[in-house]
Amino acid sequence: MKVKTRFAPSPTGNLHIGSIRTALYSWLFARRHNGKFVLRIEDTDFERSKALSVQSIFQGLKWLGLNWDEGPYFQTERLERYKEVIEIMLKTGNAYKCYCSPNKIEEERFKQLSEGKKPRYTGVCRNLQTKYGINKKYTVRFKNPTFGTVTFEDKIRGKITFNNIELDDLIIQRSNGIPTYNFCVVIDDLDMNITHVIRGEDHINNTPRQINILKSLKANIPIYAHVSMILNENGKKFSKRDDAENIMNYYKKGFLPEALINYIIRLGWSYGNQEIFTLSELKKLFNLNAINKSASAFSMKKLLWLNKYYINNLPLDYVAKLLKDYMENETINIEKGPNLECLLNLYKNRYHTLKDISCSLRFFYEEFKFFDIKSDNKYLILKSFSILKEIYKKLQQCSFWTIEILSKIINNQSIKSNIELKEINMLLRVVLTGNMHSPNISSIMFLLGKEKTLFRLKKAMIFIEKNQVNMKC
Ligand code: GLU
Repeated sequence: MKVKTRFAPSPTGNLHIGSIRTALYSWLFARRHNGKFVLRIEDTDFERSKALSVQSIFQGLKWLGLNWDEGPYFQTERLERYKEVIEIMLKTGNAYKCYCSPNKIEEERFKQLSEGKKPRYTGVCRNLQTKYGINKKYTVRFKNPTFGTVTFEDKIRGKITFNNIELDDLIIQRSNGIPTYNFCVVIDDLDMNITHVIRGEDHINNTPRQINILKSLKANIPIYAHVSMILNENGKKFSKRDDAENIMNYYKKGFLPEALINYIIRLGWSYGNQEIFTLSELKKLFNLNAINKSASAFSMKKLLWLNKYYINNLPLDYVAKLLKDYMENETINIEKGPNLECLLNLYKNRYHTLKDISCSLRFFYEEFKFFDIKSDNKYLILKSFSILKEIYKKLQQCSFWTIEILSKIINNQSIKSNIELKEINMLLRVVLTGNMHSPNISSIMFLLGKEKTLFRLKKAMIFIEKNQVNMKC
């Protein structure tokens, strides 16, 4: 049997971290068994389905490299097929038309609830003999068995049994002729030869209904695995305010796909104590049995740790390419500045995200408008003016722009001005980068280049002069 899994999101919102984990598990399981992975968009809920959400699904999967072998199928493009099966089911007696109005159903529901009973359809139309006129509105219901049980062996949770008497005669076609979610899923899984259904635990209650429909069609029953929830750092369900609600927020925050994949896989799956997994390793190791039954808790601290690990351990040229794309999205024109790989080498172990690195590198490519506010009174003072002027002169005369020569110029100035080297370094840091944090200042000067370095020294001298005038006034 060739393994075939699917990811079947409803496009009613952004792709969130829970859905992505389900997609990842399905994708890995297919890859592990040399099977196929199908993408199916479950868009029959016209009111809630949005084109933007479909785009968000494609974008998220592509960003993380979860490529699909078949699809995307759209359920709205398969309506004819669903209709065809419903007709067959009506003919074979596995389904029936129900003429009960929504009001009548609501009345019954209310009555059952007030009698302390579980609300369910009473089955009035199940054995209806009356022939109604063609204009009378109806839904189509599945004739669920009224006795016995439905049992399935969940790959994560073990044996799960439901009593058929607990299950309603499910509506499979609404009165507007559109088939319902549970029915479309069944027909799709059947037509697409899905062997393993890996999905969220919120679908456990749908599974016995879907199995009964499959049985009525004499179809094979896939293997099911229901994955637990992911909770936020406070142990609650994610809300719209959490980043996890939209996977692309992690892109915006500067996370690498490798880090996110590694993080998500470990949220609920383990292989001994191993924390770091390459994708090719996961393709060999992943199995459904090692997925945890209980809910997992999200930890930003751990995700940041993994991200820093990947920034520092993936090939430099690859991370530089990701950084370049990130910076271009932030409208930083990297053509007008130093080589990104050299910068990355200098900066990569200082930060956790591409966003932070990108922010810290901006000054290489663009003029900054303001100096770090805290530095004004401490470094950009009259005493610094003459030091900067002397360094400026030395640098102007310098014909070999190397880290060693630049470092010597700074050292000599420290001796000459009788100022500690670290103080001169800080002064230059503020002047050249606009803020008080950066790696080694001679390397910064080297990468910034002669022209920009001189320009910024001059800019600082002008700033000091102006400030002095203002102070005297
Ligand atoms: N469309 C369903 C959802 O987004 C998933 C259905 C399934 O996986 O069977 O929750």
